[in-house]
Amino acid sequence: MQIQENISLRNFNTFGIDARAKYFASFESLEELEEIVDSDLFKHEKNSLILGGGSNMLFTKNYDGIVLKNALKGISCISEDENSYIVSAAAGEVWHKFVLHCIAHQYAGIENLSLIPGNVGASPIQNIGAYGVEIKDVFYSLEAYHKKDKKVVELKKEACAFGYRDSIFKHQFKEDYIILKVNYRLQKQPVFHTQYGNIEAELQRMGVTELSIQNISQAVIQIRQSKLPDPAVIGNAGSFFKNPIITPVQWEALKQQFPHLISFPFQDAVKLSAAWLIESCGWKGYREGDAGCHEKQALVLVNYGRAHGREIFALSQKIIDSVYQKFHVELEREVNIY
Ligand code: FAD
Ligand code: NAP
Repeated sequence: MQIQENISLRNFNTFGIDARAKYFASFESLEELEEIVDSDLFKHEKNSLILGGGSNMLFTKNYDGIVLKNALKGISCISEDENSYIVSAAAGEVWHKFVLHCIAHQYAGIENLSLIPGNVGASPIQNIGAYGVEIKDVFYSLEAYHKKDKKVVELKKEACAFGYRDSIFKHQFKEDYIILKVNYRLQKQPVFHTQYGNIEAELQRMGVTELSIQNISQAVIQIRQSKLPDPAVIGNAGSFFKNPIITPVQWEALKQQFPHLISFPFQDAVKLSAAWLIESCGWKGYREGDAGCHEKQALVLVNYGRAHGREIFALSQKIIDSVYQKFHVELEREVNIY
């Protein structure tokens, strides 16, 4: 175990922000993590941040504390019954690699979540979701290390309070736990979700006549590659804002005023397309220095090169303000700000 000092985080976040960590350490086992936590340095530093793939964070300043890079590895099927498998993945596994592993073993349920950047350990943090599937649909339990109690605990689904791109780890438990391992319940008989977005059209284009988790994954990969900016080419953290959820009464009033409003039913409420709101305020393709709003995906803020995290944050605030002014709807940031 080695704790490094004054390390650039540029290659550790997909925005490519050149913030620095006062201290930086990575751990490959629980023992290494415990060694770090027991060190005098850790005891003296007030702040510690656990880092996965850095694909859902924006550094607006240098990090005044210890950044811990999670490098725990391992995937295994730990039990099965007539209908399902419990598959366990260490938090440092790359999420998409885990998805491909499951598809290769015919463990069904996460094929629609193909190609989401980041690591397994972050999947419960915002209850990752895409194309009508969320992690909560397959989540069984997780093991996490409590930083203050220095104990490993198991948390079941009910304890995680999963919501739309949300969980207890973004609120009451924020920064309390280091997730070590996540257990998912995956199905032997797949239930296909193809109604969302362009999946059906893509499957048709691919000439698919018989559905399988392999070809759904392939369709999702192709759609994502054609639409989303690749962080390796242009810095970004995916959708910067969540789609706002409003009451049906609010929606009625808005729809009268803005007949082209894009929205979807969401439980007893209505989900608005944040991308449409942002685009309607004229932000799509906007650029200020190296900070910008992507020209094809208004929900995605980008770093064209040397943008400072503060500049991207300031742009996000301008977008929030203008959307509020026009629609009286408050956009919430999805990306974690540091
Ligand atoms: P990081 O960015 O490293 O961390 C995110 C947060 O989780 C931080 O607060 C961090 O401290 C915390 N965290 C990370 N690991 C742990 C751990 N082991 N224990 C405790 N806390 C931890 N998200 C979606 O939901 N759906 C999408 O379709 C989607 N598409 C995306 C597309 C692109 C191009 C990009 C760049 C991002 C996209 N995202 C999407 C956002 C992002 O990929 C996910 O939120 C992902 O789960 C983040 O994983 P990460 O390992 O990079 O987390
Ligand atoms: P898309 O398929 O063009 O859809 C645009 C928006 O409409 C999405 O935000 C989606 O909401 C919503 N939507 C589309 N069909 C819907 C339906 N049948 N029912 C309810 N809502 C529907 O979006 P995209 O940008 O190409 O992304 C595709 C998927 O990947 C989406 O699920 C999106 O959330 C996910 N994604 C997430 C991120 C991220 O960083 N969080 C980044 C890229 C893509 P939802 O967002 O609620 O699904």
